[in-house]
Amino acid sequence: MALRSIRQYKNDDIIPAKGKCAPSESLRLKAKGKPPEAPKDILRTRSEEVARVDDGLRELLEDMVTTMRAANGAGLAAVQIGVPRRAVVLENGGEVLKLINPVIIKASGEQLGMESCLSIPGVYGMVMRPERVVVKALDEYGKEMRLEGTASLARALCHEIDHLDGVLFIDKIVPGTRICNNDLSNPG
Ligand SMILES: [Zn+2]
Repeated sequence: MALRSIRQYKNDDIIPAKGKCAPSESLRLKAKGKPPEAPKDILRTRSEEVARVDDGLRELLEDMVTTMRAANGAGLAAVQIGVPRRAVVLENGGEVLKLINPVIIKASGEQLGMESCLSIPGVYGMVMRPERVVVKALDEYGKEMRLEGTASLARALCHEIDHLDGVLFIDKIVPGTRICNNDLSNPG
């Protein structure tokens, strides 16, 4: 079990979601002659399906659990430690979940709650998520499983599965609810 480093970015360093980049913004990037660096791009990458569940993958999942716990996170996607494969780990009520190629097959209801991300420290915001989701995935032995999550587990599942498609919670923050650490330490 090895501790991996989580790639962390400041909110302003994150490239906008694909298709959301305003023309003026891309022009500005070009004008500066500074193409976005690879590490910034990886969080916007669509992670690839895991083709084979083997010891190497199980080791990666263990490293992800170690890393998530060290960072006091509720979940972690492989892409957050620089591995763009469709694998996520979550901790829910002391139980560790390891999901490979997870897909949300059912979603219902709505919940509004505060979110943050280990990859974008210091940023928080309210995000609307389904109240309940059913996820289909492979377990760490390649066996198909289904998992139902409600409340905070549904939120964590949506957040992590979004990472696999290059979607970040900052894309979904309800306008006017974004909080940065700086705002907290320097009120007014
Ligand atoms: Zn995240």
